[in-house]
Amino acid sequence: MKGKIALEEHIESPDFPATGTHNFTDPSYFKDVENRLHEYKLRLDDMDATGIQTTILSLTQPGVEGITDTKKAIDIARKMNDHIADFFVKANPGRFLGFAAVPLQDPDAAAKELERAVKELGFVGALVNGYTNIGDENTARYLDETPVWDFWAHVQNLDVPIYLHPRIPLPSQQRIYEGYEGLLGSAWGFGFETSTHALRLILSGLFDRYPKLNIILGHLGEALPFTLPRVEHRLRHQTKSTHGKHERPPMDYLRENFYLTTSGTFRSQALLNTLLEVGSDRVLFSVDYPYESMLEIAPWFDTCPISENDRLKIGRTNSERLFKLKS
Ligand code: ZN
Repeated sequence: MKGKIALEEHIESPDFPATGTHNFTDPSYFKDVENRLHEYKLRLDDMDATGIQTTILSLTQPGVEGITDTKKAIDIARKMNDHIADFFVKANPGRFLGFAAVPLQDPDAAAKELERAVKELGFVGALVNGYTNIGDENTARYLDETPVWDFWAHVQNLDVPIYLHPRIPLPSQQRIYEGYEGLLGSAWGFGFETSTHALRLILSGLFDRYPKLNIILGHLGEALPFTLPRVEHRLRHQTKSTHGKHERPPMDYLRENFYLTTSGTFRSQALLNTLLEVGSDRVLFSVDYPYESMLEIAPWFDTCPISENDRLKIGRTNSERLFKLKS
């Protein structure tokens, strides 16, 4: 399929080591990833070879969210957004767009930076790497918590989606992975951290207050199309005060306030289940480059057993609608 749009596609600047430190990734794999995070020629070659017209770029995880100093987070977010705009987007018209990094250590500054990125740099939303560190590496703020709600009001007014992207669990909450550190990241821990974070948003009542918000989840919704029906079923028997202030059944929000991408999950069975749960209007093609390969995911997507109407919607036209890419 030609003309695809992909939107979980990451970059890094030589000025800021956004991936942080971790010792569970194979160094030979990561060397190639780091090279590809910093450049765009190999990226464009792969896009051309796989029918991907446009990719929406974002700073890789944990990015700005992992900075414990608020002033530094505000400064780096601005610099990284300018880097995406200047180095990638302006040099390659029509091929790249941007998701903003936002310094949620200070939600008011995050709202201002999002507005600057959208109105001045032409970005199409923001990508948030899970919880934000506040002051130290074991203190987190999640996106459903009270200090962030004014930020969400701003997001709804700007009418742009927020991509909720994974990061590894807090250092103090990794006991279950001891001896199996390879599970902490994208293999497993990412998904659980992010689906639980998304559950917090769903249960908090955020979408009752701001019903027009759109959240994007990668990896086919971090398993929520499979797991959320049971959550909904079992919460009927839990004390009401123990599962937030949501007014409607959790699956309603997944269908109406979320878009789910195919990033990193080229599995037809899982895609079909996702389509059965949320419908083809709510699914978007993505790769998760350069951690994943366009050369692996695009051929799968181009031939997976869905209708050609759905392939066109998922591969391109849903994104055109969500990001207002057609005038
Ligand atoms: Zn990713």
